Amino acid sequence: MSIAVERVKLPNGYWVDGVHFREAELRMLTGADEEFMVESANAMLPVTWTHALLSRCITHLNGVEAVTPLTVASLTVGDREALLLHLRRLTFGERMQCTLTCPQSDCGELMDLELKVSDLLQPPNPDPAPVYEFTVEKDGSRYRILFHLPTGMDQEAAARQAHIDIQTAAEVLLRRCVADVVGEDDNRLVWSSELLLDLPARMAELDPQAELVLNLTCPVCGEAFSSIFDACAYVMQETGADLNVLYREVHLLALYYHWSETEIMSMNTSKRRRYLNLLLDSVSSQE
Ligand SMILES: [Zn+2]
Repeated sequence: MSIAVERVKLPNGYWVDGVHFREAELRMLTGADEEFMVESANAMLPVTWTHALLSRCITHLNGVEAVTPLTVASLTVGDREALLLHLRRLTFGERMQCTLTCPQSDCGELMDLELKVSDLLQPPNPDPAPVYEFTVEKDGSRYRILFHLPTGMDQEAAARQAHIDIQTAAEVLLRRCVADVVGEDDNRLVWSSELLLDLPARMAELDPQAELVLNLTCPVCGEAFSSIFDACAYVMQETGADLNVLYREVHLLALYYHWSETEIMSMNTSKRRRYLNLLLDSVSSQE
């Protein structure tokens, strides 16, 4: 059964033997993916779940023979967030509904928002590099910090550390991303947290897709607030509904069209829903 595939541009891209690539071929979700998403959601960390989900749906990455969870883990956080958003758009469309609560303690208003994938996708990094440099001054000396943007693997290491000690999770991430700290006289420093205070902000500037901040105003109390949009949490919650709903859809289609379970589960989600709506329309018009 053919499944719609689309080429998408990654905000940062990746390097294979020194060659930079930034395109991915992505296919829509199928019933089998939805089953996997629900069944694995509680067994994996969200970051690991993202490696697994995207490796199922990325049909091709230039320069990469086979896309595995490890390949996806080596992509930058922003690339992975962009891929999740594209996957969402490809399968369910551009418009996304979400509900937020006003953080003002005496308000707590529930707000329904409609977000568009195209508004959430950030412009591609104009000058991507495998290693970036950043200079800081401390006590009259200058230091060059060499670092890479956080990848899924770095994020996973930090998430595992957060289970043990939340305070040190951010440091684990930075330690993994910093390749070197070099002083003016080419003297290398082993590690200095103090010199790296501005690094998270520099990383966010270079990879704005990694942590999308929505700036909002409550329509009731007028409080301005910001909220982080997490594509993984959104997709997880949207598809994390009851598997019984999916199986009921498969059951109805099998019953009326006589397709096999494998055929229906390998059909893309939006096509399955279209057939189901046609079926329900024809059943209700016969009543
Ligand atoms: Zn409010």
